Amino acid sequence: MNKIYLNKGKEISLMRFHPWVFSGAIRIKEGELKDGDVAEVYTHEKKYIGTGHFSDASIAVRMVTFEQESIDATFWKNKIQKGYDYRKFLGLTNNAETNVYRLIFGEGDGLPGLIIDFYNGHAVIQCHSVGMHRSISSIAEALKAVYGKDLQTIYDKSKEALPKNYGSGVENQYLFGNTGNTIVKEYGHSFYVDWEKGQKTGFFIDQRENRKLLANYSKDKSILNTFCYTGGFSVFSGAAGASSVHSVDSSAVAMELTDKNIELNKIKNHQSFTEDTFNFLKDKKDVYDVIILDPPAFAKSRDVKHNAVIGYKNLNIAALKQIKKGGILFTFSCSGVIDRNLFYNTINAAAFESKRKTKILHYLQQPSDHPLTPNFPEGEYLKGLVLYVE
Ligand code: SAH
Repeated sequence: MNKIYLNKGKEISLMRFHPWVFSGAIRIKEGELKDGDVAEVYTHEKKYIGTGHFSDASIAVRMVTFEQESIDATFWKNKIQKGYDYRKFLGLTNNAETNVYRLIFGEGDGLPGLIIDFYNGHAVIQCHSVGMHRSISSIAEALKAVYGKDLQTIYDKSKEALPKNYGSGVENQYLFGNTGNTIVKEYGHSFYVDWEKGQKTGFFIDQRENRKLLANYSKDKSILNTFCYTGGFSVFSGAAGASSVHSVDSSAVAMELTDKNIELNKIKNHQSFTEDTFNFLKDKKDVYDVIILDPPAFAKSRDVKHNAVIGYKNLNIAALKQIKKGGILFTFSCSGVIDRNLFYNTINAAAFESKRKTKILHYLQQPSDHPLTPNFPEGEYLKGLVLYVE
C-alpha cells in the first residue's frame, strides 16, 4: 500500500474529516505514487488518518475513508447503500411524484470526485478524479447490488468532468443496459432527460425545491425564465397558472428540450427565445411580474472570482431595472467560490444600483440530496435569493 506522511500539524483539518490534502502538506510519499493511486495518509508521527485517491495536483489526496479498511467491493457496496438509505430517508427512493434525485454528491456523501444521478431507474455516473474513475466498474457493481431490478441502465459520463490529460483517453459509455433517455417526474411534472446529449448528467436536479417554491408565486403572473436549459422553472410556473411564461436560453438545443417539456406538461401561454439573456432583457421594461435568473457558474476558480461578482451584479441590475412594480426576482449563483455572504452582498449592491427597493422573501440553497456537511463548507455551491421588488 502506498503511504503518504504529512508535515507536522497538517493533520488538523483531516481530524475534522475535511476530505482534502493539499500538496504542500505532504512530507514524504512512500511508493511510486501515480495519478489515481490509492494511498494511506499518516501523520508526521506515523499515526493512520485515512485513505484516499492521490492526484499529482494541488489537491493531492481526496479522502474516501477515515477508517483503516480496504477499498474493495464491500467498501463500494456500503458507500452506495449509505447514499441510498439517506435518499430513502428523504422520501425520494419510492416516490410516485418524484423519481429523479442525486444519489451521490461527492464530498457531501464522503466520496470526493463522484456524482451519481438517478433518473427513474437509470443511473448516470460522473467521476471528477482519476482515482474515482479507476473504480468505475466496482461502483457500477455496487449500484446493481443496491438497486437490484429497480435499475435498468448505468451510463458513465465522466469524459468531460475528468482532468483533460486522462479524460481524453476515456469515452462516455454504458456499463449496464443501453437506454439513452427517459421521462422523469419531479413533483408530478414530467421532464424528458437525455444523458448522452444533455449538459452535465442531463438535468439540473438541484433546483427541485426552488421550482416548487416558484409555483407559489406564479398564478396569474407573467413569468420570464432566463438560462432556462430544460425549462424546469417554466413548467412549474406554467402548471401553477401563470398568465404567460417566456423561456430564454442561448443554446438552441436547450430551447428544443424546453419546448419538449412544455408540450409534455401541456403548458399553454408559453414562448421560447433562443437568445443571450443580457440582450433579451434590454427592451423588457415592465413586461414581467417574475424573473428567474439561474446562470451557469460565472466563477469556476478563485482567480476569476472578482469578474464573476461583476457579472452577477450586472445581470441582476439588468433584471431588477425591468421587473414590474410588486414583482419578484428569483436569483441564483451556482459558483462554489462565491459564498453565501458574497452573493447576498452582490445582490444587495445590484438592488442599490438599480434604484429599486427590495425585500428578501427567501434565502435558497441546494436541496438535501446534495448534502451540505460541516466538515466541508466548500460543498455549498447553490445559493439563491427571492426578492420582492417594490
Ligand atoms: N435553470 C436551469 C439550469 C440552468 S443551466 C434549470 O432549472 O434546469 C445554465 C443555462 O444557461 C445553460 O442551459 C446555458 O445554455 C445557458 N446560458 C449560458 N449563457 C447564457 C446567456 N448568456 N444567455 C442565455 N443563456 C445562457
